[in-house]
Amino acid sequence: MSIDTTRTRRSLAALRAQVGGDVHIPGEPGYDAERTGFNITVDQRPAAIVVPRHAKEVAATMRFAAAEGLRVAPQRTGHNAAPMGPLEDSILLKTTAMDRVSIDAPARRARVGAGARWEDVVPAASELGLAALHGSTPDVSIAGYSLGGGMGWYARKHGLAANRVRAIEVVTADGEIHSATPDTDPELFWALRGGGGNFGVVTALEFDLLPIESVFAGVLFFPFERASEVLHAWHEWTARVPDEVTSVGRLLQFPPLPEVPEPVRGKSFAVVEAVFICGQEEAEMLLEPLRQLGPAIDTFMPMPPAGIAELHMDPRDPMPYDTTHALLGELPGEAIDALVEAAGPESGSALVSVELRHTGGALGREAEGAGAVASLPGEFAMFGVGALMPGLETKTEEDLSRVAAALRPYEAGHYLNFVESRTDGASFFPPAVAGRLEAARDTYDPDRLMQANHEIGAR
Ligand SMILES: Cc1cc2nc3c(=O)[nH]c(=O)nc-3n(C[C@H](O)[C@H](O)[C@H](O)COP(=O)(O)OP(=O)(O)OC[C@H]3O[C@@H](n4cnc5c(N)ncnc54)[C@H](O)[C@@H]3O)c2cc1C
Repeated sequence: MSIDTTRTRRSLAALRAQVGGDVHIPGEPGYDAERTGFNITVDQRPAAIVVPRHAKEVAATMRFAAAEGLRVAPQRTGHNAAPMGPLEDSILLKTTAMDRVSIDAPARRARVGAGARWEDVVPAASELGLAALHGSTPDVSIAGYSLGGGMGWYARKHGLAANRVRAIEVVTADGEIHSATPDTDPELFWALRGGGGNFGVVTALEFDLLPIESVFAGVLFFPFERASEVLHAWHEWTARVPDEVTSVGRLLQFPPLPEVPEPVRGKSFAVVEAVFICGQEEAEMLLEPLRQLGPAIDTFMPMPPAGIAELHMDPRDPMPYDTTHALLGELPGEAIDALVEAAGPESGSALVSVELRHTGGALGREAEGAGAVASLPGEFAMFGVGALMPGLETKTEEDLSRVAAALRPYEAGHYLNFVESRTDGASFFPPAVAGRLEAARDTYDPDRLMQANHEIGAR
């Protein structure tokens, strides 16, 4: 579909008047800057890009798209842009300008616009002795992260971020603005919390903060050659720790780039990262068996919640990459052997990171009043990332496939936020939940105006 018609250009001028002028079409200044996502191998070329400032401008954009036969793809950072492809038949609706944040400390509640990222909330909440259910990077939008579930550093104790969301302002495909809560729009509110961007454009959301003033957190770096010993020790340790501990066992090969800190630049490590939300004394006691292994670097210490924002060392700048992921059930020791064989020191793997996140705990229990993603199956989440540098593409894809194959026998499912390739959105859910989500899509988006990263009920 092309928007290069006189009629569309005329209505675009009208839309521009309604949304304050922040509308970009191909060939105009601003279009290229706005269409770029986090993964620079993804070449988004939407019919137009609109940057609305509030819900009414979102509604105007949706009415315009429907009238022109275009779809609407909401996006903030483009961290999960890959599944949608070039978007030629869609308006890319960037939520960037809707970035208002307010924190009600006594009520332990935050209200944020859809453009707010975790870094807009976590430090401010931390100053007030509060923590949020953010994930490993401060750089993703709270809306995108929470609509897909939201699995972070407090997950084993407090579950998914989606299930701590208390109200969602959303514009549905008919242009209606809803303040969705369990009382006003129970089905819409349920579907949004886990079903992603299939049901409308979220313009703001409210969620609970946790009364956490301090955590004990850090990273143990071990020489890469010790990968098998370290991952085995960590894996056995995870079976003994309480839900107050969320940790990651990881093989990390830092690229030789200037933005990587000098002590680790270009070097490879076996790594354990963890966040403890118990007292320091108990945390040190729990950590002791891993410290006994004698890490080369030990960064564990008490810190305010803001201190863990970059614990996982996720990249901040857009880069070319591909990923692999699976949720895994209980792992026998052989699974660790298979992982080390696929990505460890003898494997020849050039993957930047291959990690196992310890899940289970509250993630495996259905939260009260939960949304569509009530819990996650399995005990671990595997995530692998490789850089797609020119000339290295085939090697990276081979390395990723080897890791996926090594852990396939233990697969327990997939987690929507961690999948960065085109996938039927319904496949992330048990059949009854998938059916209910498809019915919600028929109710709130019967003509499939919304273009989500993982579509549910696609036609
Ligand atoms: C480096 C890195 C680290 C990550 N760490 C974690 C982690 O620890 N835990 C975790 O759970 N996930 C994590 N993720 C995954 C991340 O949560 C998803 O990629 C999420 O979709 C990002 O949201 P976004 O809005 O920033 O991305 P975008 O690509 O902008 O949006 C992704 C999708 O979300 C939907 N969406 C976004 N905003 C709206 C809106 N306002 N209304 C309706 N739909 C909307 C759309 O369908 C959109 O296609 C990580 C990703 C990366 C790249």
